[in-house]
Amino acid sequence: MGNYFQKEIECASREQIVAIQNEKLVSQVKRVYENVPYYRAKMDEKGVKPEDIKSIEDLHKLPFLMKSDLRDAYPYGLLGKPLSECVRIHSTSGTTGRRVVAFYTQHDIDIWDECCARALVAAGASKDDVVQVAYGFGLFTGGAGLNGGSHKLGSLTLPMSSGNTERQIQFMIDLNATVLCCTPSYAAYLSESVNERGVKDQLKLKAGIFGAEAWSEEMRKSIEEGLGLKAFDIYGLTEISGPGVAFECEEQNGMHINEDHFIAEIIDPDTGEVLPDGSVGELVFTCIDKEAFPLIRYRTRDLCSLSRVPCPCGRTHVKMGKLMGRSDDMLIIRGVNVFPSQIETVLIKNGYAANYQIIVDRVNNSDTFDVNVEITPDMLSDTTMGISEREKHLVNDLKAMLGIKAAVHIVEPKSIARSEGKAVRVIDKRKF
Ligand SMILES: [Zn+2]
Repeated sequence: MGNYFQKEIECASREQIVAIQNEKLVSQVKRVYENVPYYRAKMDEKGVKPEDIKSIEDLHKLPFLMKSDLRDAYPYGLLGKPLSECVRIHSTSGTTGRRVVAFYTQHDIDIWDECCARALVAAGASKDDVVQVAYGFGLFTGGAGLNGGSHKLGSLTLPMSSGNTERQIQFMIDLNATVLCCTPSYAAYLSESVNERGVKDQLKLKAGIFGAEAWSEEMRKSIEEGLGLKAFDIYGLTEISGPGVAFECEEQNGMHINEDHFIAEIIDPDTGEVLPDGSVGELVFTCIDKEAFPLIRYRTRDLCSLSRVPCPCGRTHVKMGKLMGRSDDMLIIRGVNVFPSQIETVLIKNGYAANYQIIVDRVNNSDTFDVNVEITPDMLSDTTMGISEREKHLVNDLKAMLGIKAAVHIVEPKSIARSEGKAVRVIDKRKF
């Protein structure tokens, strides 16, 4: 049993949580029906009225919202409060031209900050810690979320934003940062840079909160060793509020979803049918007390499972398993589902760092599948195994993991571009 930021709610009984969810859901659906014409039309179309929703048992009667709805309703169509009551927006990167703009009232920000403070405490932080926030600041939710949580907790906060690695390491050392928050790929890069400089023993880091990308257990181990800290996963998405929707506790085997604010369901992505706990499917969230952007049954496209097995940490909120990947990230190569995280697992098991790139193309109607992998400096000086032997080894291991053959190319150290935010793992040149 550790410490909690809000013990009463984080360790509430199932009955208490259900009672809170029932009450908040009923009033949220009423409020949304009255104030969000876009969702009212969806409910009308499905023949559901607010009075049909009497408890969370009725949740399945409500229509889903999809990312396409957010585009259709852009920018103000899903607002639950007048603009004059909104205080901030955040936005997705919109790299594929599908920008999502989410709005927040002060109440929404307060809840978000509390959720992030819960995550920080679960990672072992307190007001006595120095929290280095190396997530990007700005429209991206990562920096603002952990910054807000750290303030709420009363920790000394270093709002570094991402990038400027030299300065990150300098501040980490000079100001005795104890908690690092950033994307897992940037943590891996910081770890590489710290070890190149030989300054690991000058760090005081004890915990890291790394989210906004799917990452493997092997990558976790490698970051933990490289920076000498315990690495915690955190989950969130801009549409729902940003990081802190769910967070890992010291058990490091799944993330507690903040159930007093968000109801989670797992559905079959093809049929929309709700699946029982333990099944892998698409994660769906209902925000039960958000005001400005109150999404109901929002389909995240993230694949995972839910578990209600009691957690030794004492928290009672349902846990979501590590992401299998975002269904958007899933590649279908020669008819087989491939997640970048599977490839990462194989590479790190074989002693490589998570510096790789997947290139998919279509030549003469068949898919080509290439994986570029950086050799480590240690491997370069190890003459017992040649490059072609290494490549052959990885081809076999990848085939065992994925069921299809990839062409593996070992490349020079540092030849694949590093990322300060989310890494670009996949280049898909196929035109569909
Ligand atoms: Zn726990």
